[in-house]
Amino acid sequence: MQQFNPEQAMTEIRREFGEHGGVTPSISRSSTFSVMASETMPEIFAGVLGPENGSFLYSRHVNPTVNILARYLAAMEGTEAALCTASGMSAISCTLLQLCSQGDQIISSNTVYGGTHALLQHLLPQMGITTTFVDPTKTDAFYRAITPATKVLYVETMGNPTLKFANLPALAKLAGDHNLTLVVDNTFTPMMISPARLGADITVYSMTKFINGASDVIAGAVCATKEMVGRLMDLHTGRAMLLGPTMDPRMAYDIMQRLPHLGIRMREHSRRAQAMASHLEGLGVAVVYPGLSSFLQHGLVSSLLNKEYGYGGMFTIDCGTREKADQLLNHLQNIENFGYIAVSLGYFDTLMSCSGSTTSSEISEAEQKEMGLSPGLVRIAVGYTGSLEERVKQLDRAVKAVRL
Ligand SMILES: *Cc1c(COP(=O)(O)O)cnc(C)c1O
Repeated sequence: MQQFNPEQAMTEIRREFGEHGGVTPSISRSSTFSVMASETMPEIFAGVLGPENGSFLYSRHVNPTVNILARYLAAMEGTEAALCTASGMSAISCTLLQLCSQGDQIISSNTVYGGTHALLQHLLPQMGITTTFVDPTKTDAFYRAITPATKVLYVETMGNPTLKFANLPALAKLAGDHNLTLVVDNTFTPMMISPARLGADITVYSMTKFINGASDVIAGAVCATKEMVGRLMDLHTGRAMLLGPTMDPRMAYDIMQRLPHLGIRMREHSRRAQAMASHLEGLGVAVVYPGLSSFLQHGLVSSLLNKEYGYGGMFTIDCGTREKADQLLNHLQNIENFGYIAVSLGYFDTLMSCSGSTTSSEISEAEQKEMGLSPGLVRIAVGYTGSLEERVKQLDRAVKAVRL
């Protein structure tokens, strides 16, 4: 397949300028939009006229500023269209509710984000939608779980927090063969991997993380075909339209201004994570990073990557026990000033947490064990502030101080 360059793809679509020739777009905050003639209104309702013709109706449906961000995201993913939402969770829940009804089944990776796991495990069953969880690295496990009720295969490109990768091209083939929809959460690996280019039908994002990159916004996106985005926004049945997780145009503007340097940021997150993980491996620490040749799926990951962006900004250290993990986190934050003890990722400063007792605490201890999540697992989302050389020294001193 021809190499895809998401940064280049984003420059190849129409750029939006602001009033007075501004090089940044103007923010259109109106909740409702007027028409020149009353006869036009039914045509907008019927979908004959739309944003392509400069016709807008109401901002829960389509807002001009939010729509610019959606166009840029679609270009970045190589999808026909995109939809912005108020959070990553709403992007995921609206997508799954659109694809599944009472009696349907989802086959999901067992290493998904805690909130997604809770949605699949506890909330959707109340609506008659059940989920079978399988190991994301085993495509044949998905195959074996398929029943006549199956509608969706759901995975994260890089699973949280175990950093296990799904074989997207193989899953896409499986989905295609059985008339299923492959939904991929690409939150951890924007630009690095383009799921739609590898065969995914729908790519969902929490833009709260790397895409926005400043830890000051909660936002999500669904990148898909025009047909799917149209279904989500249908005035009578669209899950996004009717459940209403609308993105605010000011939010869309903020994220839009940060998209052009997402590629630069991803390269730097990766460069630093690679250097730190290599150093730790040299010390004999139990570090997991996709860019290390010791990483179990290193070959697969390399084959999925768009060139130039590296292997991502996340690595984990297994400290064995929760007590050791707490010691390491406290030392890194309070003695070395290496980063902050906080959930989330994709920030310019380093964020670190003990996954088992925090972001994955929705998952039972037995299931954590099954998915390979050690209670002492520390997830490090590497930032890019400070000198890399100093940061490596801080990390080095901390792991030695707590005797890892
Ligand atoms: C954070 C996160 C989500 C949820 O996104 P919100 O923006 O917090 O709603 C979903 N998937 C993954 C992989 C995440 O990291």
